[in-house]
Amino acid sequence: MAKDYYSILGINRDASQADIKSAYKKLAKKYHPDINKEADAEAKFKDVQHAYHILGDDQKRRSYNQFGEQGEKFGGQGGPGFQGFSGTGFEDIFESAFGSGFSGGFSDIFGSAFGGGKRGPARGEDIAIRMNITFEEAAFGTEKEIELDRIEECDNCKGSGARPGTKINTCTACNGSGVERKIRKTFLGVIQTQGTCSKCHGAGEFADDPCPVCDGHGRAHKRKKIKVKIPEGIDTGNHLRVKGQGNVGEMGAGKGDLIAVIYVEPHEIFKRDGNDIFMEVPVSFSESALGAEIEIPTLKGRAKLKVPSGTQSATLFKMKGKGIKSVNGSSYGDQFVKAIVKTPEKLNKKQKEIFEKLEKEEKLAKERKGIFGKLKGIFD
Ligand SMILES: [Zn+2]
Ligand SMILES: [Zn+2]
Repeated sequence: MAKDYYSILGINRDASQADIKSAYKKLAKKYHPDINKEADAEAKFKDVQHAYHILGDDQKRRSYNQFGEQGEKFGGQGGPGFQGFSGTGFEDIFESAFGSGFSGGFSDIFGSAFGGGKRGPARGEDIAIRMNITFEEAAFGTEKEIELDRIEECDNCKGSGARPGTKINTCTACNGSGVERKIRKTFLGVIQTQGTCSKCHGAGEFADDPCPVCDGHGRAHKRKKIKVKIPEGIDTGNHLRVKGQGNVGEMGAGKGDLIAVIYVEPHEIFKRDGNDIFMEVPVSFSESALGAEIEIPTLKGRAKLKVPSGTQSATLFKMKGKGIKSVNGSSYGDQFVKAIVKTPEKLNKKQKEIFEKLEKEEKLAKERKGIFGKLKGIFD
């Protein structure tokens, strides 16, 4: 239930601060639970306290006058700080919040928009880079040193923004709060909005004699070498976030992050699909016919693969667990090996004799005749 703080304190809406204070003192004494033993004394005492908390503060009182209890949420000193809303966007939020009949949504929006403590200058920006790594670096993980341009504290003023040896004063625009209050006219009437102070950018301090190197911003571009740890199993398109390696904020505010977008270069032998790797291996006629054990390169060194007799070209063999480790877990992908049966191209005399003998032994020519048999009527 909405409570009228003026009637709780028994005063008129145009009461002065002195009237409010004396009304509060009188009622607080009357309802104090140590003095008053009536059942509802404590509840009344709390109401009186809260009414005074609001009306005794000019800021909060104005908000209350304008918006009722809902206005308490954004009228107070110290609490505010809204980020992300600026200019017209703010009115948009008002419109949508008020459009549906000025209900509970209002305080929700203010709760999130104005939450937080004293404003400070904004944290530095994130830096996004593309990072090329080799197949092996992705498969095994590594640490890479990269060089990038980033914004760091100005050496000359150590990030303060003031000419060395000069004083930094409390910002006169915001009295050191970092918050700028603006009176705006909207269709609801005059309301007060708050944002980061445009003079001190929320720092609450301002250098009257700004650092000549950084023009008072406390920041400077620098070329930096930093080490980035590449986890085992990372893949193209993954994002690596390195905390605190982005740009520094203005006047010593916190640093942003470095975000490395990974691109894994193709490998000569291995192709990757997720955590599985694929490769092709040549197998000779006789190996595929007779069967053989052949040596295969894997990520963990050489391994033996059994090619059974009668293996056809393009047969795929799976070597379980010989793929890449999952970047998020401990499981491994598989390695797939495609056997490509190579037909000999240049036969020496001896090989030719062997193949001629073999040909006589083979029944393949007869099988082909069978195909023609099935197509009778088409060719003859
Ligand atoms: Zn400087
Ligand atoms: Zn300021």
